[in-house]
This record gives sequence, C-alpha cells and structure tokens, in this order.
Amino acid sequence: MKNLMNVVMKKEAKKGAVYSQKEVPAPRSDEVLVKIHATSICGTDAHIYQWDEWSQGRIKPPYVMGHEFAGEVIEVGDKVKSIQAGDIISAETHIVCEVCEFCKTGQAHICKDTKILGVDTDGTYAEYVVIPEANAWVNPKGVDPAYLAIQEPLGNAMHTVMAGPIVGKTIAVVGCGPIGIMAIAVAKAVGASKVIAVEVNEYRLNLAKKLGADIAINPMHEDPIETILQATGGLGVDVVAEMSGNARAIDQALKYIKLGGRMSMLGIPNDKVAIDVANDIVFKGITMQGIAGRKMYDTWYQVKGLIESGNLNLEDLVTHRLPMDEFEKGFDLMESGNCGKVVLYPDMEILEQTR
Ligand code: NAD
Ligand code: ZN
Repeated sequence: MKNLMNVVMKKEAKKGAVYSQKEVPAPRSDEVLVKIHATSICGTDAHIYQWDEWSQGRIKPPYVMGHEFAGEVIEVGDKVKSIQAGDIISAETHIVCEVCEFCKTGQAHICKDTKILGVDTDGTYAEYVVIPEANAWVNPKGVDPAYLAIQEPLGNAMHTVMAGPIVGKTIAVVGCGPIGIMAIAVAKAVGASKVIAVEVNEYRLNLAKKLGADIAINPMHEDPIETILQATGGLGVDVVAEMSGNARAIDQALKYIKLGGRMSMLGIPNDKVAIDVANDIVFKGITMQGIAGRKMYDTWYQVKGLIESGNLNLEDLVTHRLPMDEFEKGFDLMESGNCGKVVLYPDMEILEQTR
C-alpha cells in the first residue's frame, strides 16, 4: 500500500480548505483502517469550511475534515474481533467514553466525553481513515456507497421523527436542508398521515415535494401558521421536527403545533431563542425534546431496516456526486442551499461506477 494519501485539509484557522497529502494512518490495536469509497458533506463540515464562530472555538487545524462515509476495511488492529478486512462499513461518528453514567444507561448519544470523527479527530475527506472498532457499522455488500455514507445524517432524521408516536400523525418538518428532506422521506415511509414541509429556499422546497411532502410552504411567501391551521382543521400538527435552527421558525411552529403536541428539536440556533413559555408550552401542554445525534445503536438498526424495506426514496436525497478534488464546488453548493446531499469520491473509478 502507498504511504501518502490525498486529503482535504483544514490547514489554517481561516475560511476554506486545501487539497493536500498526508501519511496513510496505521490502525491501533482497537481500530480499523478503511479505504473510503464515498464521503458526504455535512452541514457541520460546511460551517468548518466557512470558519464560523462555533468552528473557531472547537476546531484545531491542521486536520483532515469529513465524517460521513462508506468504505472497505483494509486492515484491522490485533484486538479487533467483529470486523474483518473486506467488510464494507460506515460509522457512528460519536466516539464515546463507554464508562460515564450516560454511556452506561443506554444514552451514549449524550455521552459527556463525546469526540466527533472529523471534528476532534482526522476525518474522512481522505483516501483512508482509521476508526475505532466500536464505531464501525457493517453494511451489506453491493449497495451504492453514497447511500451508505448518508446513513449517519439519515439517523439524525430518523431519531427526530421516531422520538414519539408518528403513525397516522400530522408532522411539520421545519427547515428542509439535507436532514429535513430525509425527515420527510422517513415520515412518509413510516406512515405519517400528512407531511408538511416548511422551507425558505425554493430548490429545497421542491426537493421536499419530490420526497413526498403533501404540503410545501415557503414562509417568505405565505404565513405558515395560517396555512397549517387551515390544513389541519384548525387544530395544528401533532408533531414538529425542528430542523432549521431559525428563531422565527421555532416561534411560529409553537403557534401551529396542536395542543399536547410533540416538538422534537434537532436544529441548532446560533443564539438564544425567545419563546412564549406560558402560552405556547405550558398551557398548550407541549412536549419539547432535544435530539442529539443518533441512539447508539437503536437508530442505526432502524435506518438499516427502513432502507431494506425499500420504502425510502434514497435516490432523490443525493443530488450531487463529485470527485474529492472538486470539494470547493461542493462547499459552494452547500453555501447556496441549492442541493440535497453532496457526495465526494476520493477514487475516480468508484465515482465512474455509480455515476
Ligand atoms: P441546513 O442548514 O442545511 O438546513 C437548515 C435549513 O433550514 C436550510 O435549508 C434553510 O434554508 C432552512 N431555513 C432557514 N430559515 C428558515 C425558516 N425561517 N423557515 C424554514 N426553513 C428555514 O442543515 P442540515 O444539515 O439539514 O441540518 C439541520 C439542522 O440540524 C441544522 O441546524 C444542523 O446544525 C442541525 N444538526 C443537529 C444535529 C444534532 O445532533 N442535534 C446533528 C446534525 C445537524
Ligand atoms: Zn460516555
């Protein structure tokens, strides 16, 4: 095997990233070495690329970006038992301590010592990556690697939609970025009665329709409160999947959620949000819940099962496939908002096979 590999590096503490080379890492005894087949761009990567305030506080350049991936195991450490060379894997990207109260009580997704692959460690915008055996998720063979790579954000969508009753319920998905459109596809596939998309970007609103949204609302052009109350017999939606992180959208959602409704919040606002706690939460009897990551590993099994059911429209979730050295184009697309999932390929041959 070669010694040097191509990578996309966050080299300096400023906007952008560079195409560069780095030594192929060697797996430690509890790690596996993976050849990356496909790696998708996450909103978090886009924030790191843009070098926003959050990134400035968290990221320590130089390091290799990226965390959503699928690839083939090339080598395993000597203590690795469950994974073999040749396995096609993806990974849970939260590397957890396994010993804290939360890890020990089935809540590893909120482990108090979480490290994130490609945020706190070298990531997957590379030809090779090492990950702990504990994080590896073995995939079936012969599946498009782009679909395997996006299982991680699909898990965020799944975790949010499935965080309470959904069958036969009305749901508003607020913010139809890559995870929002996935939530629409999941809600449709698992039997929500009516799926309402709320999104300010027209490209994404159209994508939401393609993925099965029954009603698509652009709050720049119409009042979402009025439209949603009208569409739900004046009562509002049973469930809100909050995936915009937008303060105004959150406040509006609390007006069109049904009495006793569930508001599952995945979106990350960049500042404090003012809401009418008395009228919109207490007296309405709303349940508000924070959704962090994916349940380890309940959500992964749900994602696997739903993909296997054939009921999930994966095709329309992936809108762009690019060679990894065209990563800048990918980040430009993410910035414009005119995309669903953007997938990068370190190996042109694999891209050619799936394009
Ligand atoms: P994204 O930023 O691509 O999507 C957010 C969408 O919200 C965009 O399409 C944007 O146009 C839309 N939006 C903005 N203002 C709006 C408004 N007023 N009304 C309706 N829509 C509006 O992000 P994503 O990758 O799809 O992720 C969704 C959210 O989840 C982000 O906030 C992200 O940071 C967060 N996230 C959370 C976790 C977690 O573990 N909690 C994990 C991953 C992502
Ligand atoms: Zn822990």
